[in-house]
Amino acid sequence: MNTTAAPRALSQRILETPASATVLIADTAAELRRQGVDVIDFSAGRAAEHTPAYITRCASQAMLDGDTHQTMAQGKPEFRAACARKLARENNISADSDQNIIATLGCKQGLTLALLATLNPGDEVIVEDPCFVSYGPAIRFCGGSARAVPLRRENNFRWTRDDLEAAMTPQTRAILFCSPHNPTGTVHTQADLDLIAEVADRHDLFVIADEIYERVTWGGRTHTSIATHPRMGERTIGLMGLTKSFAMGGWRIGFAYSSPHIIKAMVTLQQHLMTCAGAFTQTGATVALCAAPPTEVTTLWEDWERRCVFVVAELNCIPGVSCEMPEGGFYAWIDITGTEEKSEALAERLLREHAVALVPGTAFGAHGEGYLRLTCVKSWDDLRRGLERIKQGLSSKSV
Ligand code: PMP
Repeated sequence: MNTTAAPRALSQRILETPASATVLIADTAAELRRQGVDVIDFSAGRAAEHTPAYITRCASQAMLDGDTHQTMAQGKPEFRAACARKLARENNISADSDQNIIATLGCKQGLTLALLATLNPGDEVIVEDPCFVSYGPAIRFCGGSARAVPLRRENNFRWTRDDLEAAMTPQTRAILFCSPHNPTGTVHTQADLDLIAEVADRHDLFVIADEIYERVTWGGRTHTSIATHPRMGERTIGLMGLTKSFAMGGWRIGFAYSSPHIIKAMVTLQQHLMTCAGAFTQTGATVALCAAPPTEVTTLWEDWERRCVFVVAELNCIPGVSCEMPEGGFYAWIDITGTEEKSEALAERLLREHAVALVPGTAFGAHGEGYLRLTCVKSWDDLRRGLERIKQGLSSKSV
């Protein structure tokens, strides 16, 4: 496929889009490992564990039994019924599986459908800064532009009314936010949700709630869906998935819930774009969602919390570094301002000189300067060895 001809110009859309920093760092770490370097990779948000066996067994059996054909674009009725039961059981949301739910190929694809269903060219979407690396590109691909509203440390990484109101323009169409938050670890309180709901209501906006980390909250906290808020149900698109809580990132399965006309639009888009989410992946995910998670899963989540506690305590022993325990999600958001190094330079140095991969905070937005993100749900062995390398890296200067 190599050619000497000058390449034809690609779309402006892709020319203006940087690669996903988290995936890029994970890929660089994988490449270094292929070359024989013993890299410890704390970059991408992937747990060390495999998917619980009871889920995988069910999907493998389904494949053997011929569950290998396309499903309805909206997803299998049994999967949607399991999603509706889960929403009622755990999120206090009453959803009709035929009207309010669509199966998606992960939360990320749910986001694309949500944006395509709601944005017109030139519309603006309010996002957090820092935020998940794919929000900006996804919004751009769908014809909109992201308007970043800072999450400041002095506000515990929460929006303020003034910051939100100052970002509103006649083009503002939607608010996209994530709780528990990647990368800062904030879990929104009722007051945080009240603020978003009030602003969305006043400006008549869609609300896209990325709830991918909703089951992994720490210190006894629980996640509240903004859709449970008065008048928020019909304007909210909730995005949920199994990637994080069930270590099912490679399955590409999740679901979105919203009001019937929005789901109907997302189904039309799904018919043309992806046909449907995978058949046997939906079957496996049905088992995961249809009942409260078994101890096999809840003990794993408890262990993830212990790993977060361990990582944070170790990090706080390093001069120049400070880190709060995340309220939810599985990232340590590490304040490195005391090291006097810039985020990108430090992440690069740790990878090249100490074989440990973290994500520079700037990958998540300009307000991520002064931070590194570390995924805490790696094996205990990787955590111990990796933190040792980080300690060494921070007590030495660049070679
Ligand atoms: N949203 C956020 C905030 C994430 O951190 C991630 C994964 N890193 C995703 C969405 C993607 O989820 P999925 O694998 O279900 O597409």
